[in-house]
Amino acid sequence: MGYNQAVSLKIGVQIVEIIEKAPAKINLGLDVVGKRADGYHELEMVMTSVDLADHLTFTPLPQPQIQLESNLAFLPTDRKNHVYQAAELLMKKAGITTGVHIYIDKHIPVAAGLAGGSSDCAAALRGLNRLWQLGYSNEELAALGAEIGSDVPYCLYGNTAFVTGRGETVTPLPAFGPCWIILVKPRMGVSTGSVFKELNLATIPHPPVRDLERAVIAQDYAAILAAMGNSLEAVTIPRHPIIQKIKDRMMRYGADAALMSGSGPTVFALCKQHSRAQRVYNGLKGFCDEVHLVPALMTRD
Ligand code: ATP
Repeated sequence: MGYNQAVSLKIGVQIVEIIEKAPAKINLGLDVVGKRADGYHELEMVMTSVDLADHLTFTPLPQPQIQLESNLAFLPTDRKNHVYQAAELLMKKAGITTGVHIYIDKHIPVAAGLAGGSSDCAAALRGLNRLWQLGYSNEELAALGAEIGSDVPYCLYGNTAFVTGRGETVTPLPAFGPCWIILVKPRMGVSTGSVFKELNLATIPHPPVRDLERAVIAQDYAAILAAMGNSLEAVTIPRHPIIQKIKDRMMRYGADAALMSGSGPTVFALCKQHSRAQRVYNGLKGFCDEVHLVPALMTRD
């Protein structure tokens, strides 16, 4: 299944089940450029989707109720879940008087810097738009999603994009890849809000994200590697030095680049060659519990 492909099961004209894929993202670049009057930070990011995904299954209910279920016992299934919020928002906007059961098959690590909750939220907006045959455009869904979380607009488009503002302005870029990605998630979770609160704009590094954008457009892998960077490492690495250890280990095992994603703590390595990616994966497998080797997701539909 590609990025935005969904599976629909119909009986007659009635849709009885929809399955949506919700891929994780990584930040090839993240610069915090300033603080806005509304309290949010102004960001410049290059994001790309990876082939590690949750799957959401939507089944209609006759009564006006949102039922959530998941394979992860600790995941909230009430209003705290971004998927619940997406369903509630769409029901209200479109005046839906029936309900839905949503099963979230979670594979993306939680509170990891991989936008799992935002991607599930975007998948819920896409899936319910289809289930209830609402006909909203991606732009309309992105505007709704921005009310729930800053990464949701990007997750609605997915693939590779240049993202600015607090996440609401998404400009599609050419696909990044082919490339192998090793994701390593140390045990702890990181709260994005607490990282932004601790951020000192005067001292953080500012990676050249505009150069990175140009390098992605030119599909120049060496220039991409040279321009990668993440301002938020300056806050999360001193809190959790294991992140630096993972980065160093990835480079020692032959990664082309290693960087923290989002506010962390997940670290990703890039490798053009599969044999190298396998070496990095093997070198990290015993070091941390959660290690994944996945391809970059290159579909653009
Ligand atoms: P981002 O990269 O966008 O900051 P993240 O990967 O760091 O996101 P998430 O996995 O989205 O973090 O989880 C952040 C918080 O959101 C967690 O505390 C979690 O309980 C809550 N949450 C709500 N809905 C979901 C969901 N569907 N999947 C995962 N977490 C969710």
